[in-house]
Formats: sequence, structure tokens, C-alpha cells
Amino acid sequence: MQLDDLGEWRRTHLSCEVKAELAGEEVIVMGNVTDIRDLGGIKFFLLRDIGGTVQITAPKSSVSANVLEKIDSLTRESVVAVRGKITTAKQAPRGVEIVPLEIKILNLAKTPLPLDPMGRVKADLDTRLDARSLDLRRPKPAAIFKIRHHALQSAREFLLSRGFMEVNTPKIVASATESGAALFPISYFEREAFLSQSPQLYKEVLTGCFERVFEVGPIFRAEEHDTSRHLNEAISIDIEMAFATAEDVMCTLEDLIVRVFSEVKRRCAEELKILEHELEVPKKPFPRLTYDEALEELEKRGVKVPWGKDLPTPAERKLGEIIGGAYFVIDWPTEIKPFYIHPKKENPKLCEAFDLMFEGLELASGGTRIHREELLVKQLKQKGLNPRNFESHLKNMIAVPPHAGWGLGLDRLTMALTGADNIREVVLFPRDRRRLTP
Ligand code: ATP
Ligand code: MG
Repeated sequence: MQLDDLGEWRRTHLSCEVKAELAGEEVIVMGNVTDIRDLGGIKFFLLRDIGGTVQITAPKSSVSANVLEKIDSLTRESVVAVRGKITTAKQAPRGVEIVPLEIKILNLAKTPLPLDPMGRVKADLDTRLDARSLDLRRPKPAAIFKIRHHALQSAREFLLSRGFMEVNTPKIVASATESGAALFPISYFEREAFLSQSPQLYKEVLTGCFERVFEVGPIFRAEEHDTSRHLNEAISIDIEMAFATAEDVMCTLEDLIVRVFSEVKRRCAEELKILEHELEVPKKPFPRLTYDEALEELEKRGVKVPWGKDLPTPAERKLGEIIGGAYFVIDWPTEIKPFYIHPKKENPKLCEAFDLMFEGLELASGGTRIHREELLVKQLKQKGLNPRNFESHLKNMIAVPPHAGWGLGLDRLTMALTGADNIREVVLFPRDRRRLTP
């Protein structure tokens, strides 16, 4: 089968712009073939583009033999360009169709397809991820990524409106931010380097230069977890703010969450409908539970977590059921939070750290940071870390102002916005222990 070239043809209309009012006009549309039907005297197919779908109708009596031949050779998902006339038609979707004058087949999809692109035949997640480019043409996955896009867009707009500057910090680093266990080593010329776990130390240093910074970038975690909420590569929205405390940046985070939820609700009503997801905008202020209170609430319901331990997933889920919606857990034990979190003045066993939870899912972690070198060195030692390994960072922490910040997982945020129960649903090409392709 001879395929056609685009040549001089350019799209004149998107499918959604083909309207009954334009009846009689000649247009060129381009996209993928979805349903194909042959009713004897008439052949149809649906053309899908970024704007939706439009029906192409070819009555055998009035279109050329060449057009009919081309329609016969079409397979679902093939890419075509159609030059034709807009016609009103009661039976057609939206009351309008295009009668083709000429068709170009720009690419032909091999059959059988690995997935039903209409989504009528259910496929398991692995099959879908293996054929992700086809999966993303289905309404539900497409809706998820539209929402993710608008979430990120509105988060960015929000941070810019608050005077934050967007920065990019290196993803190839010499040492760990948190602990050595979760690092991916890579070979870097004559020596070993690592993929960055977090922009933490860089953004802290940058508060001394730009006061308010944010970064949207990948974080790499070499943890061997196989859960529905962890990947080995995730995207984090990170902020750091000078002359601020944990409570200040919690307010910023609250405002951002409310803004993002509201904007997604406003801009993505159609997509939320496709996902059958009712989105409720959390109300400010979000409840703030101390770590001790969280333990108490859990114990009342028979879930015992020893003091000084991180909340295991079942406990997080239980707490999510008890509190519901968005809430903060604050005042964590110093020993389970990273070395750069500021201990509380009145009780150094606790620190000024917080987690933002959404129905049992951790969305963000943050806190007041240590800005003075002596305390930072003391804290490193207390955590059993060698200050020598942080020498270049410490050298670079030159008269840094008091500051606070957080890291918010964009993938987890998208789970909350779409109701997805597996993080792999909301990441285009997820990376986990078993999956490194496509
Ligand atoms: P968790 O306790 O859920 O494993 P964490 O406390 O290790 O997460 P942080 O280091 O606090 O994660 O990172 C900040 C945010 O980045 C998290 O709240 C989460 O939204 C996101 N995040 C961290 N690790 C992952 C991961 N492996 N996969 C997806 N998102 C992640
Ligand atoms: Mg955390």
C-alpha cells in the first residue's frame, strides 16, 4: 500500500471547529481513524484529533472510487488527512459530517493493535504501559494527563504570583542529601556520582541569593519498594523561602493546594467527568495534628505505633480515614526527620517538620531548616553522618537567612486530583524496579 505525503496540505480545521453553520465549506482535517463502518451504500469513519472527533461519511454514489478504495484500506488508528465538504446530518454526532473529496493516508497502523484504543476492551496496567502511546489516546488516561498539566500550570502560576523564582539545580551529584541507602550510583568519568534524591541543599543555599525559589524536577530514589505510591523516578515541586518558618510555608502550601484544586475543577470539568471523579476543594485552614496527637488517635482505634517511628502505610491510611481530606502532621520526632530540619527550641526531641497528607497519602514534606553552620554540623554528627562528606555544601552555606520549605510530589498530587489508586496511572512512562521501558 502506497502511503501519501503531507505535501502542501495543511489542516484548516480541528474536528471541534467543524460545525453545522459551516455547511458547504471545504476543509482539511487531520488525525487518527477510530471507528470504521461499511453499511453497503455508505462508508463511515470517525476521525479523532486533539479537539475531539468528527464523522467522515462517504456515500458510494457521490464520492470517487479512489476515496472508497482508501477507506477500504484503512485500519483503526491510522493517520489520515481528509479534504472534504462540511454537510449537516441529523444522524451524525453533533449534527455535522464531512463528505470526503480526497483522502491522504499518512501512516497505516499495523493490526491487530496491542490495545483497544476506544477502551471498550479492558486491559491490565502492564499491557497498557507497554503500549503507552496507544493507551494515552484513550479518554481516561488522556484526561489524567490533561489534569496533571493544569495542576502543574496553576501551581507554577501561584508560586510566581507569590514572588518565587524558578530555578534548576543539578541532578548529577557527588553525595546524598538524605542517607546513602536510597541513591542510584552512576559512572561519572573516572569516579562515581549519583542521581539526585532531592534539590534540598541547593535550594537552601539559593535562599541566600534569591530569597524565594522553586524547582519542578525529577527526584531519584533507589528504594526497592513496590507500592502503588512510590516510583524510582518522581517529579517534585520544591520550594524554599527566606525569613520564614514551617508555619509560614504550610500556609503557602495550603494556598497552593486550594488554588490547584479550584483551578483543576474549573479548567478540567470535562476530564473529571470522564474520570467520574468528584473533586472537593479542601477548606482552609487544614487540620494540624501533632505527631503525638496522631499516635493517640491511632491508638484509640487499636493501631499502635511506637513513639519515634515513622507512620507505616496502614497507620497513614487509618489516620486518613479518621481525619479525611487534606491535613498536616506536625512536630515530628527529630530522630526520624532529615538532619537539616530545625529542632524545636523548647524541646529538641521534636522538630519543626510537617507532612501534608491527603486521605492517607503523603503529598508533601517540609519544615523549618537549620541555617547556622554550628547547629548543622552538630545535627549531622547526631545522625551519624560525617560532616566531611558535606564539606562543599557547608562551605557554600555562607550567611544563609533563616528559611523553610517543602517538597510536594507532583505524581501524588495528581493521584489526589484524579482519584487514581496507582501512581503508574498518572506518570507517562513510569520507572519502577521492574520497569525501565518504554
Ligand atoms: P514516603 O514516606 O511516602 O516514602 P518520603 O517521606 O520518603 O515519602 P520525601 O523525601 O518527604 O518523601 O519527598 C517529598 C515528597 O516527594 C513526598 O511527600 C512525595 O509526595 C514525593 N515522593 C518522595 N518519594 C517518592 C517516590 N518514591 N515516588 C513518588 N513520589 C515520591
Ligand atoms: Mg516525607
